[in-house]
Parts: sequence; structure tokens; C-alpha cells
Amino acid sequence: MNEFRLNPDTLQFGIVTPRPAECMACKTKGQLIESVPFKGEDIKVYEIKERVQPSKYELKGKDFKSSPAHGYEEILVDQSSHGDKFYSYSVEDISKLLLIIKNRKTALSKYDFGENFIATRYLQGHGYFDLMILPVPNNVYKKCIQCVNIENVDGREIRRTENFIEYVPFFPIKEIEIDISPIKHISFDAMDEVIAFDLAGMIANTLSKLKEKNMTLAILEDKNKHFSVKILPGELDAFSLLNIKELQVSPEAIAENLRKKIQV
Ligand SMILES: [Zn+2]
Ligand SMILES: [Zn+2]
Repeated sequence: MNEFRLNPDTLQFGIVTPRPAECMACKTKGQLIESVPFKGEDIKVYEIKERVQPSKYELKGKDFKSSPAHGYEEILVDQSSHGDKFYSYSVEDISKLLLIIKNRKTALSKYDFGENFIATRYLQGHGYFDLMILPVPNNVYKKCIQCVNIENVDGREIRRTENFIEYVPFFPIKEIEIDISPIKHISFDAMDEVIAFDLAGMIANTLSKLKEKNMTLAILEDKNKHFSVKILPGELDAFSLLNIKELQVSPEAIAENLRKKIQV
């Protein structure tokens, strides 16, 4: 069972998880949740239970906190094979996709999986969005970080529309990193067709202008319910975008291995 651990030195969460060896969409043994019509085919929504699972367990202990990796994960697959065609999607297509993800988030909001929502898509993989809702990390910052970001954007603004501002974050983790936030404080659930179309236009336009095509697109929202979209180079998953360190082998298994080597 995968496990969340709080690093007592940095107070940052990590997850002990073997990285999925194969493409989740090709290999899914998940439960088909629903099919949604899209571009003459169906988007298939599967629940993924390998990495995080719905659970009633809380993080235990005082200093060395850990818990089974609870939360929820599903994939929304809009292409049946590899070679993501996202770059060929029209603004209308992207807008529809955004609204389908929003509807899934709204449908899941009645369950208590956690307050961090994230949907990621690697734009050169198998065409799907990987949607996760996680109880970690715990955002200790009381104000809405998106509102504060927008107020303090200064020289990092790229452009803005009526509804959105596009900017470089205060401390990017990648050389090209673009954040798109609604200027007004609104949740992803509150996004209507007009706002979705505006956002889709900004995403399509930005992606078409960037020479780099090996990119990840992500939609994020934390407990303050002011969503944002990130565009970054490379293949990034939900854990790395939420600063949750991934450890592929448990510390106990590492110790057992070292005991065998060192004690003999
Ligand atoms: Zn695949
Ligand atoms: Zn806000």
C-alpha cells in the first residue's frame, strides 16, 4: 500500500510509491465510471486505485506522521492510442474538455477525499487527463495564494484577457513556466461556458506560440478554491506539481537491504 509521510526535517509530504511501469491508460484495470461524448467518440473515465485510494485513515503520530496514501485518482481518456492530438484540438474542443473535467470535479465534491484538486496532461503521451484529489499537502497560508499572486505580479505578467491573467510565477520550478489564473476569485466548479472558452483560447494560443512541444498542462485548485492552470516543459505528474516528493522504495526496505550488506 502506498503511504504518505511527513518529512520531519522539512515538514513537506512525500509519498512512498512505485512509479507506474506502464501507461495508465493502456494498462488500466480501473473501473469504468462513465463515458462522455466528445468529438464523435467517447471520453472514458476510469478510477485508478494503484497509487491513492479512498480511505478513512488520518495521518497518525506526533513527529513522524504517516498514513495510507488516501485520496482519489481517475483518468479521463479522450484518445484510444498514444500520440496526443491535443495540439490539433480547436478552442471549442479544449473548452468542452475543460467543462467535462469541471463536471467530474463537481460530481466528486460530495466525497471527502481532500482539498487539493489537480488534473495533469502530458501533451506527448496517451491523450488523457489524470485527475487527483488529495488531502496533502496542507496549505498553511491563510490568504488565497492566487489572489496574492495576481496582486503582486509586477514585472512577471505576460498578458491578460477580461477574465484571465497569464504570468510567470514568483519562483518557477522550470525554465519555462506559465501560470494562468482567473483575475476574479472563482473556483473551477463555478467556471461557466464563457469563462471556459476564454481559458481554452488562452491555452491554445500560448501552446501554439511555444516552440517547445514536450509540455505538461495542469489545472490546480487548493482549499481556497481559486483555480489556476500551469504550462511547463517535460512530463510532470500531480505529485511533483504539488511538491510531494516521490520515493520508489520504502526506507524500511532500503534499511533491510543495507542491513544484509553491512552486518554480514
Ligand atoms: Zn497508453
Ligand atoms: Zn483568490
